[in-house]
Amino acid sequence: MSDAFICPNCGRETNFPIFHNLNITAEPRFKEEILSHRLFHFGCSCGFETEVVYPMLYHDMERKFMIFMIPDEDERVPEQMRASLMPLAEQGYVFRLVRNVNELCEKILIGDADLDDTAVELLKFVGEVPFKEDHPNLNLSGIYFQQDEQGKNHIVFHTKEEDYALPFDTMQYDIVSEELKKHEEEDVFFPEINRAWAEKILWKK
Ligand SMILES: [Zn+2]
Repeated sequence: MSDAFICPNCGRETNFPIFHNLNITAEPRFKEEILSHRLFHFGCSCGFETEVVYPMLYHDMERKFMIFMIPDEDERVPEQMRASLMPLAEQGYVFRLVRNVNELCEKILIGDADLDDTAVELLKFVGEVPFKEDHPNLNLSGIYFQQDEQGKNHIVFHTKEEDYALPFDTMQYDIVSEELKKHEEEDVFFPEINRAWAEKILWKK
């Protein structure tokens, strides 16, 4: 699907491919396009560049994984989708809602690493305090699960100054996942598993 995108700089109309539904099992070549952010990159012949983000449903049939990216924080997943997705939920599908490309990429990487994003989110959250204590002068802007070129897993602390990659603590991950087995998510359809979620889970205990 292709949409005309009007360059905010020069007003010229350029074709820009928009994918509201992306079945990555059928079209695996798009995964790299997403992970590199290329799919959302708009470049105009006038030199203007920007990121164009729109609602996108990412569907991995092999991993039984559906990630809905809805950039507008005020927008929810359409109610009627739940009924239509019920058969997939019964097959054990995991549904997630994310708000930006970084979050989408992170969920894809976590899924591909065969990890549970709820446990990863808790690990990130508990790692925040010690990181801030160790680096009191840095401004933390986000924490993401990432893989290096060798495919090794890391928790990366992004700060305005620089990025700090800590090796992924598999032992801690196993403990947290075991603990999380007792937790049952209230809504299977597209919960937002993020920092706010992790905070809520930890405060409840
Ligand atoms: Zn332009």
